[in-house]
Amino acid sequence: MTFATLDDAELQGRRALVRVDFNVPMADGEVSDDTRLRAAVPTIEKLRAGGAKVVLLAHFDRPKGKFVPAMSLAPIAPALAKVLGHPVAFAPDCVGKDAAEAVAALKPGDVLLLENVRFYPGEESNDAAFARALAENGDLYVNDAFSAAHRAHASTEGLAHLLPAYAGEQMRLELTALDKALGRPERPVLGIVGGSKVSSKLDLLRNLVTKLDKLAIGGGMANTFLYAQGHDVGASYCEKEMAETAREIIRLAGQNNCKLFLPLDIVVAEKMAPGAPARIRSLGAVDEHERILDAGPETVERLNRAMDNSKTLIWNGPLGVFEMPPFDKGTVGAAHHAAELAKAGKLVAVAGGGDTVAALNHAGCAEDFTFVSTAGGAFLEWMEGKELPGVAALSKQNKR
Ligand code: ADP
Ligand code: MG
Repeated sequence: MTFATLDDAELQGRRALVRVDFNVPMADGEVSDDTRLRAAVPTIEKLRAGGAKVVLLAHFDRPKGKFVPAMSLAPIAPALAKVLGHPVAFAPDCVGKDAAEAVAALKPGDVLLLENVRFYPGEESNDAAFARALAENGDLYVNDAFSAAHRAHASTEGLAHLLPAYAGEQMRLELTALDKALGRPERPVLGIVGGSKVSSKLDLLRNLVTKLDKLAIGGGMANTFLYAQGHDVGASYCEKEMAETAREIIRLAGQNNCKLFLPLDIVVAEKMAPGAPARIRSLGAVDEHERILDAGPETVERLNRAMDNSKTLIWNGPLGVFEMPPFDKGTVGAAHHAAELAKAGKLVAVAGGGDTVAALNHAGCAEDFTFVSTAGGAFLEWMEGKELPGVAALSKQNKR
């Protein structure tokens, strides 16, 4: 897809309405993880350098269309000022008189954060009048919130039709990386899908088998596939009612020439607890009291060789219960290998998903991946092959 970026925009003296994702974790009224604030810095800096007046739009939590003081964005302004090294003004409303006055006071290079857009019901309903009220405060629109792009809301979608629309730097980075991983990947392309449930990742699996050359299935969902193939999974987590669906995915993979890798060996324990005594088992050799909690060494070894023979890796979902060592071994082993190959320039390695990001951080190798998406829901919908409304609205072909 093609979209306009800030390199295409006339910025000097213009009011840039920038949708960012500042839905950050808070503890005791303070930002406890500023990752998302830091992600917005390149776009803000680029706009400031070009002489734009930067007006930030964001949501926080789920106020459901009402002013909820506890969900104010006010504490974000000083936190952003700190990471930016530049003052950030705050307006107690995102539309109307308060917003207009604060925007009117801006000089080129200034930064202003407007109050939570979800204080108005028109945000989530993508109400045309609310989008127009937001648009009053901008000459151009920049969307830098890929993580909110799976929602067609006024500030993520509606605005793109009312003002000249551009992808911000973080949005551009994310879209470029995702396109490299699944849109137009260098082949062979290998996928790893793990995590707990087949049922939550059905659409994702169905889409991936049509796009990938190889797909490794791990985590709790692999148990369902093993069960579907007639292997005993003991007391493991397993969605038995999904067995037919698992067989359907196996068939679909075959029809699409996608080579499926199911576990060769597994790590079991009698209890799902940190430090529980772990044993390596071959398939079918699981006792009735045992639970499969990780991929075995042979499985990881074969997966690592598959990475050696691939040009691109796309990864969602841990291979085991990585939160409870020693059941992090499979995930950590594969993560290190992918990171090494990526660092050496031999593999484009892209990963995403809430727990996957946590697992890669746990393994200490997220920085060596080509790209790690922190977008959560938007990343998963993209892996499902769905069109993201916020991204589609930026597309040059879709301009009304
Ligand atoms: P993501 O958030 O990256 O999309 P998921 O939420 O699908 O990933 O899955 C992560 C969860 O899957 C983790 O909490 C992990 O403990 C769990 N999991 C992985 N392997 C197993 C297993 N064999 N049995 C039970 N749970 C597992
Ligand atoms: Mg998760």
